[in-house]
Order: sequence, then C-alpha cells, then structure tokens
Amino acid sequence: MLLPADLPTPLQVLDDPDFAAAGVELRLKRDDLAHPTVPGNKWRKLAPNLAHAVETGAVGLLTYGGAYSTHLRAVAAAAGALGLASIGVVRGEELERAPRNWSLRAAEADGMELRFVSRSDYRRLLTERRAPGEGWLVLPEGGSNALAVRGAAAIPAELPDLGPNDLLVCPVGTGGTLAGVAAGLTGGARALGVAVLRGEGYLEDEVRSLHQAAYGRQFTTWSIDHAHHGGGYGRVSPQLTAFAAEFEQRHGLRPELRYVAKTLRAVHQRLMAGELVAGTRVTVVVTGLPDPE
Ligand SMILES: *Cc1c(COP(=O)(O)O)cnc(C)c1O
Repeated sequence: MLLPADLPTPLQVLDDPDFAAAGVELRLKRDDLAHPTVPGNKWRKLAPNLAHAVETGAVGLLTYGGAYSTHLRAVAAAAGALGLASIGVVRGEELERAPRNWSLRAAEADGMELRFVSRSDYRRLLTERRAPGEGWLVLPEGGSNALAVRGAAAIPAELPDLGPNDLLVCPVGTGGTLAGVAAGLTGGARALGVAVLRGEGYLEDEVRSLHQAAYGRQFTTWSIDHAHHGGGYGRVSPQLTAFAAEFEQRHGLRPELRYVAKTLRAVHQRLMAGELVAGTRVTVVVTGLPDPE
C-alpha cells in the first residue's frame, strides 16, 4: 500500500539577517517533507499519474532517467507500493556492468527493472515513448506531463493569503514543477524558476507546452532565471557547497545541492544585487531531500 502524503507541507519563516536588512521576507515551503517514501516534488507530480494508473487498471509504469535520477527512485517506490511493475530506462550503457550506485540500487530494491541504454538510444526512446506491453503507462523524463503539472499546482494552493508582493521560487529541471506553481498562483503573486541547467529558450518552451497540455492556455505569472545554473546540470562548485554549509549553519537545514541549494543561492545573490525590492515575500519551494552522504 502507498502511504499517504503529509499535507499541507510545512511553511517555515526564516530569520535571515541579509534578507531582514533588505526588508525582504524569506520563507521555505517544505515539500521535502511531503511523503515518507516518494521524495519531494516527485510525489506532487506522480500522485495524479498514480491515481490515473490505478483507475485505468494499469499493470506497470515505464519511465526514463539518469544514473542518479530521483524520478526513477520515486517511480520505483510508488509502483512497488501499489503492486505495479516498473521499468526504468537508464541513460548510460556503461552503468550496466558497474557496481550500482545508491540511487539505482534503491530503485532495484523497490522492484524496478533497469534497462541500460546508450545516450543516443536514450534520446530516441525518450521521444518514441513506447509502452512495453498492454496496460503499461509511460511517464516522461522527470515525470513532467499534464497530470504532473496539475499535481504541482497544489503547492501554491496550500499557501494562504498570496498577494502581489509574493514571489514563489523553485528550481527548474524539466519545468513541470514551475509550470504547476505558476498555474496555481492566486492574488497576483508571481513565480520565478531557477534553471539548474543550460536551457535558455528551451525550458520556456517546455513550460509553455506543459501549460497548453494541462490547461489549454498560457500564463503570464512566471519567468526563469538562467544566470545561476553554475555551468550546467549536476555542476556543484566549491562556492555552492560553501553556501549550502553556511545555510545549514544559519537555518539548521542541509539543502539538497543540485536543485535546492542552487535555487537558494540564486535568491540570495539576487537579494545582494538589489534585485528584490523591499516588501517582497519570497517563498522558496524545497523540492527535495539531500543525497545520502
Ligand atoms: C527532479 C527535481 C527537480 C526538478 O523538477 P522539474 O519539475 O523537473 O523542473 C527539482 N528539485 C528536486 C530536488 C528534484 O529532485
């Protein structure tokens, strides 16, 4: 059985001297605490897809991811708990013979069958989206489809009293979370996505097509920051690590590095550059948990 989520996730107000000096309020929406086994924003995005799978009597879930994909782990955990089969198509044929890293090991332990493919096959399979058999549901990379966007729209819906001074900030990997957050805003609030990879233009197109697929319309409530990906996906600089350590010291929360710390640092750098006007209330969505050390 799939354990229930713990909703609404906590909203935490931080006491941070840099933000206080600028007259900006900083809050965390603790989506890292949403679910005991399906991590962070992956639960938000999967929940409507799982409901759909159960309603339609699906037998299994197939999806795609890299060597450390949180999405693969999340699908494996959810499918295992629901008694569904799961297949993970993994980018990198060389990983097949290597000792399993902690992430792939966890996916396998939850019953996921891993299929290792070359980078070029991976790209081809991603676009083909072929189901391996009758009754299988195929989920895109990162889990971002129309249902996922609607799931992520529940994040701002849990925030009371949003107004024009509110800025919700989240990381952008495939754009599903930002698309949902932007669509669920009320009261004239705005959303800012922090790209964690090089994707100027491409990521905006992704968000727009997700909005079209989920709602049949566009939204003007959002934008993407492309200045803080730090060189690309998975690039963790010593400066980023130092920022994360200092953040943990100040606030007692160890931020996940590839997405959450990048986003928090982007917000801090924008603050220090005077790009956040006094009176702004910033709410950063903590989309996931740190990797095991
Ligand atoms: C997968 C992931 C994201 C990316 O979300 P998208 O909806 O793909 O943009 C952000 N943060 C964390 C912690 C993640 O694991």
